[in-house]
Amino acid sequence: MKLLEERIIKDGVVKEGNVLKVDSFLNHQMDVNLFHEMGLEWKRLFADKKINKILTIEASGIGIACVAAECFNVPVVFAKKAQSINLDGEMYTSKVESFTKKKVYDIIVSKKFLTPDDHILIIDDFLANGCAVNGLIDLINAAGATVEGVGIAIEKGFQPGGKLIREKGIRLESLAIVESMDASNGTIVFREQ
Ligand code: 5GP
Repeated sequence: MKLLEERIIKDGVVKEGNVLKVDSFLNHQMDVNLFHEMGLEWKRLFADKKINKILTIEASGIGIACVAAECFNVPVVFAKKAQSINLDGEMYTSKVESFTKKKVYDIIVSKKFLTPDDHILIIDDFLANGCAVNGLIDLINAAGATVEGVGIAIEKGFQPGGKLIREKGIRLESLAIVESMDASNGTIVFREQ
């Protein structure tokens, strides 16, 4: 998606450790007009899928997912990150290793909000090693719901997450795929799509 790529070039900052900072428009301050264009693009890309719910993970996925959910006219559910969980049987849980904080944490969704009737589009801001998306897929599978696809704003194509998800046979639509980036000179190269 040209608009997103241009914005990443203009405002993204490449950090050491394969981290791309986009907090001026996506992760901290949020450009909701850009989110709206992204939502419309996912709507176009997943037009053949019957999607009745969007699932994301707190915190930075929520803003994008909410605007996308408006474009799809469906509710959005976010998986909560829990420090320690009280397993009372009311929650689906999975474990995720954080790419940016290098910590393992539990994610939870109430059983009330994921059911076998659900056809779900997963939305998140970044795809790196694929841990966050895999955790969300676990929750969906535990509920007996269907994963219709995964919509990612920025995939880092030099990390394994995208390949892992595509190899599962899951439709993955990343609006920008970073092929390479260099913290020493700030260059970012995108994959042609
Ligand atoms: P994964 O689970 O695929 O390894 O990483 C995805 C999660 O880590 C995303 O939800 C995102 O919050 C965070 N993340 C991964 N890479 C980056 C990055 O380069 N920049 C930022 N801002 N967040 C990232």
